[in-house]
Amino acid sequence: MLDSISYTHTPGGQMLLIGEGDQVQNQVKYELLGVVAQEAAGVFEVKWKGPFVDLGSQVLLPVKGAKGISLKMQIEKVDALITPVGSWSAVCMGPKQREFDLKNIQANCDQCHQDFQLEFIAFSGDDQSDALSAMNLQGWGANMDKQVCPECHSSALG
Ligand SMILES: [Zn+2]
Repeated sequence: MLDSISYTHTPGGQMLLIGEGDQVQNQVKYELLGVVAQEAAGVFEVKWKGPFVDLGSQVLLPVKGAKGISLKMQIEKVDALITPVGSWSAVCMGPKQREFDLKNIQANCDQCHQDFQLEFIAFSGDDQSDALSAMNLQGWGANMDKQVCPECHSSALG
């Protein structure tokens, strides 16, 4: 599941393409027409208007209500749609829909004592461990006993 999460904001109604070196390419616009989760676990049908996307590419899709989380999916198959002109339908591998639950936590840095609002996706049934994984992926140094914000964490490393 963590493979399917990106701590990047994707604007609503858009799809973003991840290019070389995991850089998000936002100069090209892909207008999202629809996302349908198919019955088979983790298979999504994604429709967009804009340029073709190569097989094997990774794309980001907006998460409803999220400020800084996107879903990351891999394109497995692409077909052109007849209408509207210039639109595509792709089969993508992504997270299992039922595993998906967006949550917010307030985190306090043990070093500078600032409060932070953080988002994470709860999926394992253990919210605390999901929140800690999310924090670490966003640059925190976090475990059950101690949570250090990205700024303090990076100055401690340097
Ligand atoms: Zn701090």
